[in-house]
Amino acid sequence: MKTIYMDNNATTQVDPAVFEEMKPFFTELYGNPSSMHRFGGQVGVKLKEARARVATLLNCEPDEIIFTSCGSESDNTAIRSALSAQPDKRHIITTRVEHPAILSLCKFLEKKDGYDVTYLGTDEQGRLDMDEFKAAIRPDTAIISVMWANNETGNIYPVEAMAAIARERGVIFHTDAVQAVGKIPIDLKTTPIDMLSLSGHKLHAPKGVGALFVRKRLPFRPFLIGGHQERSRRAGTENTTGIIALGKACELAAAHMAEENTAVKALRDRLEAGLLTRVPDSILNGDKDNRLPNTTNISFGYVEGEAILLMMDQLGICASSGSACTSGSLEPSHVLRAMGVPFTFAHGSIRFSLSRFNTDEEVDSVLDTLPSIIDNLRKLSPFSAEKQAPACTKAFTE
Ligand SMILES: *Cc1c(COP(=O)(O)O)cnc(C)c1O
Repeated sequence: MKTIYMDNNATTQVDPAVFEEMKPFFTELYGNPSSMHRFGGQVGVKLKEARARVATLLNCEPDEIIFTSCGSESDNTAIRSALSAQPDKRHIITTRVEHPAILSLCKFLEKKDGYDVTYLGTDEQGRLDMDEFKAAIRPDTAIISVMWANNETGNIYPVEAMAAIARERGVIFHTDAVQAVGKIPIDLKTTPIDMLSLSGHKLHAPKGVGALFVRKRLPFRPFLIGGHQERSRRAGTENTTGIIALGKACELAAAHMAEENTAVKALRDRLEAGLLTRVPDSILNGDKDNRLPNTTNISFGYVEGEAILLMMDQLGICASSGSACTSGSLEPSHVLRAMGVPFTFAHGSIRFSLSRFNTDEEVDSVLDTLPSIIDNLRKLSPFSAEKQAPACTKAFTE
């Protein structure tokens, strides 16, 4: 059975060209770039090239890139640096729809370290309110962190406009751009964003490498302290293979950017339109007109998303669901809850996230099989006959 992989917001396939680029640095060119000998030094040259490639994709200076181990580390480093550099400021602004790398950290800082956190809400399409945002900024706000694009819905947030407001008010602005980098154009020369996080494995590089952009002259406090790697901003011997791969992936992302917004978007739109017309009681979650070209999040009413995923899994189709009845958490995704998606729909939400490696045949295959899967599940479920939420939701609401 052939795998149909439509879960690219969870992780992506390493592009074969990326793999080729990193391969020699495992077994042949395995030197330490900090070494005095040329054997190590030649790896340093490759790291420099990788840094320049990442900087080119973001249109920033190579020195403004710090390599990290993942998107989560970049996010944690950004927030903690801003707090540590401004000890008198005890307030953080973020949103209710962030990735756990931001949201759980903010909850932790609030509960364990006594910081004050404002979580901006959204409307039913997941959009932020700029007036609410402006009103939340205080003299003691240390950092504002708003994601560039949402991993569940694909919604794109107006971070450039928000960063401009933050700059006017003298507040550091960070964005988690893990889902945006490689999918939509980013130009850090023309926007006052102070810090930006990205992750390799979301853009066809391997897992275990990420980067944090830190604007020149921004006060910065390292998270990992030790050796002088990354100009003493992030200690630890460099993940040379991962960094070289990330550089190549960024170069390829620039070359494929147009394709994301034409070919990948066309596949996504056909999948989405096909499902919405073929499956009764299905709705689109998110901001239809302002989202990533590869993502669609659809709620199929009166069924459990996990049941749909299991049935699709039998056919080799990979996607993800916004709820987790069986994993012990009875609540639907925090993103859909922030949007106020009704429980009868939130539990049946499925996210399809495509990439340039998907094909028309794969979309056809999902369109041919998924409507009957949902029809069958609804026939089996007493809740769908009554047009009610699935069983696990009932336990939660009661
Ligand atoms: C995947 C993801 C992260 C975390 O990145 P890792 O490299 O897996 O730690 C952070 N933010 C968003 C929006 C993501 O999609």
